Amino acid sequence: MAAPLLPFLHLDSLWLQVTGSRCNIACRHCFISCGPKVDRHAMMTRAQVQVAISDAERLGCRAYYYTGGEPFLHPEILDLIDDGLASGPLHILTNGMLITREIAAELAHRSAAADYSLDLRVSLDGLSAAANDPIRGEGVFEATTTGIRRLVEAGIEPSLALTLVDPAGASPEGRTAMLGFLRALGVERPRLKLIPPFRIGREAARSGRYGPEARLAAEDLDDEAPWQLGCGTSRMVTANGVYTCPILIDYPSARLGDGLAKALVPIPLAYRACFTCWEEGFSCRS
Ligand code: SF4
Ligand code: SF4
Repeated sequence: MAAPLLPFLHLDSLWLQVTGSRCNIACRHCFISCGPKVDRHAMMTRAQVQVAISDAERLGCRAYYYTGGEPFLHPEILDLIDDGLASGPLHILTNGMLITREIAAELAHRSAAADYSLDLRVSLDGLSAAANDPIRGEGVFEATTTGIRRLVEAGIEPSLALTLVDPAGASPEGRTAMLGFLRALGVERPRLKLIPPFRIGREAARSGRYGPEARLAAEDLDDEAPWQLGCGTSRMVTANGVYTCPILIDYPSARLGDGLAKALVPIPLAYRACFTCWEEGFSCRS
């Protein structure tokens, strides 16, 4: 069965894996298996980030996403934030644990001074240490909620990203609980991003690999697919080159080359993870 080919529409957003696979924690569900000693993907230099943003801007890109690993491990993260905000709205995906009061104040200052918006997406996997820390590590719940409080105190309202390791999180009651949790932390306009587990990387060891049914066929897709799936309108840049999306950076066949210009092409949805994107109606963007 040939994999469906997804057309590329236009470059709406660019993802940058600024810290490579280096993270301060090692979550059991991390689909790119990041961690404190994981250097499989190197940190991007500031020059690499600037080149990627400049190339993307020329190609009409309208928004930027910094991810990793943990972006706040990057020694030049504040300069990188300036670089991103000079070109468009900037989203940063973080576990929030490294947000000191000083960093929060710097973020608020840069956000206020920029022409474009700065959005922080903080990840947690449960609304208590008992629910979160078995997945993310001991003490992570406390450190992340402290980071959220510091952002709020500085005037920044982060959104909350929650991987649905417990499907009940997606229920109306689960969503209401998450919104209430954010309000209790001082967030006046709470926003949620629910992420399905991708059974690749470390998550494959936690919950099991995909079965043979996890395959897409051409007839599965409709005309909306390139608009709905992130890979129809975005690309991922790492220190190792350009990839179809943030989910597939460990697949050599998902590498589209060294530069963006030649990476804006139709791609085959031949990966098991594509099944999850399509089945769950998921896109990485905010
Ligand atoms: S899921 Fe996020 S916070 Fe957890 S190890 Fe992976 S990159 Fe780090
Ligand atoms: S994993 Fe998802 S975002 Fe990545 S190429 Fe497949 S469908 Fe697109």
